[in-house]
Amino acid sequence: MEKLRIAIQKSGRLSEDSLNLIKECGIKVNNGMRTLKSEAANFPIEFLFLRDDDIPGYVEDGVADLGIVGENVWYETGRQVEVAKKLGFSKCRLSLAVPKHIDYSSVQDLQGGNIATSYPRILEDYLQEHGVTANIHVISGSVEIAPSIGLADAICDIVSSGSTLFMNGLKEVETIYKSEAVLIRNKELSQEKQQLLDKLLFRINSVQKGQKNKYILLNAPEASLQTIINILPGMRSPTVLPLAEKGWNSVHSVIQEDEFWEVIDQLKEAGAEGILVVPIEKMIL
Ligand code: ATP
Ligand code: ZN
Repeated sequence: MEKLRIAIQKSGRLSEDSLNLIKECGIKVNNGMRTLKSEAANFPIEFLFLRDDDIPGYVEDGVADLGIVGENVWYETGRQVEVAKKLGFSKCRLSLAVPKHIDYSSVQDLQGGNIATSYPRILEDYLQEHGVTANIHVISGSVEIAPSIGLADAICDIVSSGSTLFMNGLKEVETIYKSEAVLIRNKELSQEKQQLLDKLLFRINSVQKGQKNKYILLNAPEASLQTIINILPGMRSPTVLPLAEKGWNSVHSVIQEDEFWEVIDQLKEAGAEGILVVPIEKMIL
């Protein structure tokens, strides 16, 4: 029987969340990440642990069938692989930053300037789209120090909180690319591997839906039961169970994480008591 082979970052910002996702999909990884290669105990999948920059190339060549990388790395390497699924973790942005004291009004200000980055392709495409020509200096690390040593007028780098920029006397002036971890795939998988991938994607979807939703339980007085039911969206309609105490019911439903606080406030106002909100591990719809 064929096995899928997935490439995961060996050690870095993607590693832990990638393995967690695999675990939440019910797949047990033998040996963890200590070795280059590892197998799953209960799913026909094999893991390769590599540097993230090498992953798109391995997936394109078919050495691996799948890989998990940041969208930024996927775009930058320009490899012929497809994004099978956005994974929602390792969110960050690629931004342009200039020294704090510089007056900046638009990207046109960078015309003819020097920009340091580790992402020449993404930057080049962005500049071209905006009709700007600049000299791109490719450096592989510590891009943020380039302006202070006189190497560049601006930088283009990954930002998550902005504190690194601030500490280096820079200000973020333009977001040029938004990234999150993605599952990439080889363009031509055998039928058997495609079926395994579909199975894996089904599990990933269930995990993601579970994370977006919460299970809610509450006690409702008879008089406001209908009002409370109307507030709760639910998958179908909420479950209503009578409590031992007369005149009260227990109401169960599912609510979305992002509407959570608003719904809670409305429920309290409507007379709901003993509200419990619990995480959902997986949601099969
Ligand atoms: P490797 O040694 O594998 O080459 P790396 O140093 O190139 O690792 P990491 O710093 O581990 O890469 O980042 C991996 C990915 O995580 C990045 O490509 C990006 O998509 C995302 N990322 C980077 N910085 C942040 C951040 N500050 N917050 C969130 N995600 C980030
Ligand atoms: Zn890397």
